[in-house]
Amino acid sequence: MPIDKTFRDTWRKIGQHEGHPVWQFEDDESSRIHGSIVGVDFSLCYGCAKCITACPTNVFVIVTDERNRSVVDPLNESECILCLVCEIVCPVEAISIEREGGSEDTLKSLLQSSE
Ligand code: SF4
Ligand code: SF4
Repeated sequence: MPIDKTFRDTWRKIGQHEGHPVWQFEDDESSRIHGSIVGVDFSLCYGCAKCITACPTNVFVIVTDERNRSVVDPLNESECILCLVCEIVCPVEAISIEREGGSEDTLKSLLQSSE
């Protein structure tokens, strides 16, 4: 299951980490999303680093999470230029970039037209 793209409206903020918010779904302590402009679902990410290689502005950094797993943290999310490349390359759809309504449809139609 991909990252819940509604998390900014439906999950609750439980704290801050290195300048970005940390989110949890209801009382599920195993659920964690880091970031706001660039959200990364820590329970989905497995640290493959494809997003690190793809990101033109070095938003992501590999860290070790509370369960001792390697994941990427969007430590430099303020540098994001909203290119959406990380969302496309992530094999498990662990990333959600914040955007205005309508952009999601635009992305889908761009992807379909390139197939
Ligand atoms: S949308 Fe682009 S700039 Fe922003 S984090 Fe993803 S790859 Fe980096
Ligand atoms: S591409 Fe996806 S799974 Fe790989 S490190 Fe980035 S967020 Fe994690």
